[in-house]
Amino acid sequence: MSLSYKCLCVLYTFVVNRSFVISASPRCILFFVFLFFFFILPYDSFAKKVEVLYQGRTISIQGLKRGKVDYLFGAEWARVVGGTLVWDGNGRSFSIQVEGHEVVFIPENPFVRVDGSLEAYPLSSRLEKGEPLIPFEILGDLFDLLIGRDIRWFPSKRRLVVEGSPRNIRGVNLRGDLLKTEVILKIDGPLRLETTTTEMGRLILRIEGGRMRPEEFTFSQRFGALRKMEGEQLDRSAKILFHLEKGFEGKVESDSEEIRITFTPMPKEKREKGIQLEVIVLDPGHGGKDPGAVSPKGVKEKDIVLAIAKKVKRLLEKRLKVKVVMTRNKDIFIPLSGRAEIAEKTKADLFVSIHCNASPKRRRSGGVETYFLSVAKTDWARAVEARENAVLLLEEHPQKTTATLQSILSDMAQIEFLNESSHLAEMVQEEMAKRVPIENRGINQAGFYVLSHNYCPAILVETAFLTNAKEERLLKQRKFQEKIAEGIYQGIKKFKSVYEERLNQ
Ligand SMILES: [Zn+2]
Repeated sequence: MSLSYKCLCVLYTFVVNRSFVISASPRCILFFVFLFFFFILPYDSFAKKVEVLYQGRTISIQGLKRGKVDYLFGAEWARVVGGTLVWDGNGRSFSIQVEGHEVVFIPENPFVRVDGSLEAYPLSSRLEKGEPLIPFEILGDLFDLLIGRDIRWFPSKRRLVVEGSPRNIRGVNLRGDLLKTEVILKIDGPLRLETTTTEMGRLILRIEGGRMRPEEFTFSQRFGALRKMEGEQLDRSAKILFHLEKGFEGKVESDSEEIRITFTPMPKEKREKGIQLEVIVLDPGHGGKDPGAVSPKGVKEKDIVLAIAKKVKRLLEKRLKVKVVMTRNKDIFIPLSGRAEIAEKTKADLFVSIHCNASPKRRRSGGVETYFLSVAKTDWARAVEARENAVLLLEEHPQKTTATLQSILSDMAQIEFLNESSHLAEMVQEEMAKRVPIENRGINQAGFYVLSHNYCPAILVETAFLTNAKEERLLKQRKFQEKIAEGIYQGIKKFKSVYEERLNQ
């Protein structure tokens, strides 16, 4: 600072002192101008005060410029937001802890861990003389949500503005199954609530004095009784709009920590018609460039399962009069995520994925089995899981999908409908097994990607083994395919009637 200030004064004297300017040659002046812009100016911007406007107060803090990036000291930021700066023991990372949240930085690394989840940012933190520095520019993205205030950096004015009142509606949890859906809003309460029910099957919840980030409370995925949810921040209140499935109603309760909205079927007298499971998604596995399992004689899983799925579709439409959506009805490749997306878009009530089994090393293995989504419990279940998930590697954005594959386990922790999926698996398995002359391998659980993104009861059927010579012959026969299809149909029918009865009590 002082050095550059002196240089600036010298330059100023040279330029302003007319007699000197007149006597100095233009080359000499150019030299000093060059010196100013290319040496003195950058040096000057190494350290500068930055004005922080925090909730109306102005605080002056030390900033640093490296290249084109403005940094502030981690310790200063912790002080501004009322948090603490914590070093890990080995000095390889540092964290800012604020309002129960933790943001972990690794110097020179674009990844930042925010409350346990890793996120990449365009600029990295750095270390200088043992002092952790954070780029001003990423503060907003990192801390906005955590401290519930708007954080904006104005580089040209070298000013950081932090404003807005803290959020008091902090997040949402969904729980439930087909019979009951619960939405739990975490609040710093108590808050006054107002509920309105509209004709169109909507429930509007207005939270007086509520402050939230609307996108956190907005999603269009079907979840139990919920078709979708929309959050809106108004001047003096927060509003959440719940779109409900036909025949459901909501009840709102709250205390100082949470607001619970419970959706259950309306009592019979209020309903025009019973609640029904109306949309069934059938998912013939594999397709296109992904043949699935291939028998020694070249029979492909993708062809067999499509034929079976078409038969199930006909039975369901003809006898149960339900809407059936196929994830594919010809030989095309559909990524696993695309299959779950179809289920989501059509607001599926049930999801049934159809496959053929394989055991290349043990050709005598055979039988029919049905899976629902959970953590694989046995080596066999893990092997089937690995085979059916392997298609993720064929998908177009492998990086993304491998990452997704790794997160299956964490996703599964949020899986609801586990009970219902296992019931559906039981019913379908029982009905298939009693119709076909092969071993009943029972129901099983594993982490199938295609099931993990469904918000409805979902199962995966492994009809028979393509690697078993006898079963390979059977799988090609129309009669066997019809028996399997009939079994799947009967299982779905049973499940539908049991659940509809419970829903419409
Ligand atoms: Zn398969």
